Amino acid sequence: MRAYAFRLYPSKAQQKEFEHHLWIEKNLWNSLLENIKKRYDEEGRFYSQRELQFIVKDSGLYAQSAQAVARRLHRSIQAKVRAKNRGQKWGFPRFKSFERMRSILYPQSGFSLGEKLKVSSFGEISIVRHREIRGKIKTLTLKREASGKWHAIFTVEEETKIPKANNGPAVGLDLGLNRLATLSDGKIIKNPRNFRKFEEKLAQAQRSLSKKLKTSHNRCKAKCQVALVHEKIAHVRNDFLHKAANTLLSNYSKIAMEDLRIKQMSKQGHGKGIYDASWGMFTNILCYKAESAGSEIVFVDPKDTSKECSGCHSIVPKSLWERTHHCPACGIILDRDINAALNILARATAGMAGSNACGDGITIPSMKQEAAPFRVR
Ligand SMILES: [Zn+2]
Repeated sequence: MRAYAFRLYPSKAQQKEFEHHLWIEKNLWNSLLENIKKRYDEEGRFYSQRELQFIVKDSGLYAQSAQAVARRLHRSIQAKVRAKNRGQKWGFPRFKSFERMRSILYPQSGFSLGEKLKVSSFGEISIVRHREIRGKIKTLTLKREASGKWHAIFTVEEETKIPKANNGPAVGLDLGLNRLATLSDGKIIKNPRNFRKFEEKLAQAQRSLSKKLKTSHNRCKAKCQVALVHEKIAHVRNDFLHKAANTLLSNYSKIAMEDLRIKQMSKQGHGKGIYDASWGMFTNILCYKAESAGSEIVFVDPKDTSKECSGCHSIVPKSLWERTHHCPACGIILDRDINAALNILARATAGMAGSNACGDGITIPSMKQEAAPFRVR
């Protein structure tokens, strides 16, 4: 499954109608939830999905969209019950405010896509189809963004592609803050320069928001401004990460990374808003693109990857700001992150034919190669 998002330009009347539907949906969600809680208090059991789907009949929403609300609520309660049985903490679904209710799902029908997007009870909505949809459209989600923009999101079933043959080498990859990634062959992927610019813009918008009076109209506008910057950041970051992933996957057949679930992210200390989400997202993108690119992603234990010497495996303690790995035991001098990337690669290829834990057959880059950024485009 793959998602395509397109900008919508609904008329004033359509916007109003749509907001009315979101309002109904919000009320539906809240009243269902209230019913569920009441039922549980009285009888000690939850509604079945069937019962819920019966209750949402004649809600005023498109029938399948209402069913989707019931299904979503039922699913999150099931997740809650399962987690409880496992002894884990899990939040119970919450009541929603109108602000939080942002989208309506059309699971199978109720819409058709031509020159315009035709949706049941809204009519034809202007849509900008900036790219071709490949595959069969499964669902439509109409979404009102916090910034006030409208989007249509289609999930599409893709035809299974035959993986490309990938004869590239294996590489170790160390994720960082100053650069997105440092590779074991000495190449680097820089973060886009405009991240810094966006950071400033975001701080500015947030400052301006904090000065506005609680109930003023200007506060609404300032809030919208903050949402717009967030949206822009997400867009630029997403675009960059996708391109970076494509660059890597077309060059390497095997990419070794640290297992971020084990690694304590806070260890890095100075995580900045924009970079925060990048690592997890980048990992996800790499993973789901890897198969069709004929590449493999391998996760390794992140313990001491930056302290261990990639040459002789002795542990060389260093502080965060030491950028160079200088091993007193074997004398090797390397960029700190390249050393880590080499360790990551060695861990992923340990015990495999043609290589071993010592990293034989892996070219160790020199310090000079540090300035060899990949052109991500
Ligand atoms: Zn050493």
